[in-house]
Amino acid sequence: MTEAFGNPASVDHRYGEEAAALVEAARAQVADLIGADVEDVQFTTGSTEGIRLALAYAAERAGPGPLRVAVSRGEHDAVLEAVAVAVDEGWASCTWMEVDGLGRVSASEIERALGEGAKLLCLMAANNEVGTIQDLASAAGQAHGAGASLLVDATQAAGRLKISALDHSLDYVVISGHKLYGPKGVGALVSPGLAQAPPPARYRGHAPTANVPAIAGLGEACRLRRVEMAVDEARIRTLRDELQARLLAKVPGLAINGDVAARLSNNLHVSAPGASNDLVVRYLRDTVAISTGAACSSGADAPSHVLRAMRLPAWRQDGALRISLGRSTTTADIERAAAAIAAAIRLAQAASQEAQ
Ligand code: PLP
Repeated sequence: MTEAFGNPASVDHRYGEEAAALVEAARAQVADLIGADVEDVQFTTGSTEGIRLALAYAAERAGPGPLRVAVSRGEHDAVLEAVAVAVDEGWASCTWMEVDGLGRVSASEIERALGEGAKLLCLMAANNEVGTIQDLASAAGQAHGAGASLLVDATQAAGRLKISALDHSLDYVVISGHKLYGPKGVGALVSPGLAQAPPPARYRGHAPTANVPAIAGLGEACRLRRVEMAVDEARIRTLRDELQARLLAKVPGLAINGDVAARLSNNLHVSAPGASNDLVVRYLRDTVAISTGAACSSGADAPSHVLRAMRLPAWRQDGALRISLGRSTTTADIERAAAAIAAAIRLAQAASQEAQ
């Protein structure tokens, strides 16, 4: 912002060159984290734009006619809405892939979608609500075996799990800065052949000026994740397990949602019996920052489409709490949070009993 403030598109002078060098360094840092070639990284304003862009590339690469897209029911709204718009505009059609009770899309569901002619599979690397991790290597194998490609929303997984776009032949991977301790409003789309491909028709025209400070911040965040991820995630997992154990001990009948055998280490998604989650979150508002669902839909009073797709019983949807940890979370935080969350749940349970 203050030292290399040139425009990276103005390389006729030193200022522009300095800024361009920062952007290129960041591109290499993103590529290193995602296991991709440097030239396959395109900066975006975040995952939402990356997803829209990937859909447009996939539609053009698939040739004339609407692109048949298979979408998991557990995908983030950023995917669901991008696909819905493409369908509305007539350049895509949609096939759903159901999730199981743990939030996973099975190989047979993928097979069914490919059998229906899907040319692009949308599968998130890890779910933003329940943390369930999807087996991407086998999904990519299935997709490629049927001549289809794979769009991976890695917003929640990048920087927490090892992802290698090249090793797993992932066709489109999107990441977002703010989910890996980087700046907001910046992200990347990683896709082989991007440098050679002309932008999709919808994106042709003048290229906007790059947000250099945000891009440099994203690059640095990716570098730090690569160095610190393994140690951080192991520590965060231990803290999460401790919080889970404390809550299980304090809240009778508490259910743990998602795939306990394969979930993000920072994720704890629970359901408290007989406690309205809106009420619990409201009681905790000034002490513990947790949510009832995705950040963008919490407060909306609507049931989570992910929990609905997992077919969780009504009480588990109504009492669902999404608790996230991070690298700054401490043991003292866990102790305080466990006590405060359990107390808020008891209050909400009492309130709903009174109401009956
Ligand atoms: N996909 C997932 C799984 C997310 O969690 C989010 C943001 O929360 C997005 C996409 C959207 O990312 P962005 O806000 O960077 O556009």
